[in-house]
Amino acid sequence: MDKEISYGSDYKFIPATSIASGIGIEVLPDLYCHTIQIVNICLVGNPETKNFVLVDAGMPDSANEIISVTEERFGANSRPQAIILTHGHFDHVGAIIELINHWNVPVYAHELELPFLTGKLSYPEPDPTVEGGLVAKMSPMFPNEPINLGDHIQTLPSDGSVPHLSGCRWIHTPGHTPGHVSLFRDQDRSLIAGDAFITVKQDSLYKVLTQEMEINGPPRYLTTDWQAAWESVKTLEALKPTVAVTGHGKPLSGEMLANGLNKLVSEFEQIAIPDYGKYVNKNRH
Ligand SMILES: [Zn+2]
Ligand SMILES: [Zn+2]
Repeated sequence: MDKEISYGSDYKFIPATSIASGIGIEVLPDLYCHTIQIVNICLVGNPETKNFVLVDAGMPDSANEIISVTEERFGANSRPQAIILTHGHFDHVGAIIELINHWNVPVYAHELELPFLTGKLSYPEPDPTVEGGLVAKMSPMFPNEPINLGDHIQTLPSDGSVPHLSGCRWIHTPGHTPGHVSLFRDQDRSLIAGDAFITVKQDSLYKVLTQEMEINGPPRYLTTDWQAAWESVKTLEALKPTVAVTGHGKPLSGEMLANGLNKLVSEFEQIAIPDYGKYVNKNRH
């Protein structure tokens, strides 16, 4: 393994899963979503052209699964032209080092996310005291030490374009993390939202296990700036996406997506912001 790149010292396999684990969905002919335990990865690109990118890099220990899903869809020995990260949480970069070593492709993230991806800064510790049940209580076992991707990680272009995804633009959607981005394609109004909002109530272990559909704010125990998170959801709602893949939960489209986002924007304080927790200050605005 390349010496300059390494996972954080608390990196480990997390024994959490859901009924969607291992399942792939072709959301659009060129947008494929696959669930690794509890988190989604996306392969964006038409299987006939072989030009595609991977969005996010799954849970720890999932590289073999990601590589085989990729080869199933794009052919033996195929590899993406780049990996785009919505943000650097452990469940979105879990297999990134094995993937870099296997594919030798560039990785892109927002510049405000780079300190967490180059070993400089740890994410704030998950808040196990936040209102929100069992997953929050499990959260202290989640890795939060920064990984170090050295010079394998690059900043997303400042003009909003997404490398190797023409017609797609990245949108800064901070709140869940400082450099969180979502990817939007104007032509068909498709959205990859990362954890800016999710379609499962992650605070309920039961709902994570069963993937019960429910549009929700970002995962509570890891979100540190709720006002920014609210603004980000407003930004995404204003784009009027017709289909959305989120970091957690099932893809959503049409009226269910429109109504769900609308409700999330207008009732963000009730739906998304926890009543208590160390990153909560409901009186701040
Ligand atoms: Zn996250
Ligand atoms: Zn996540």
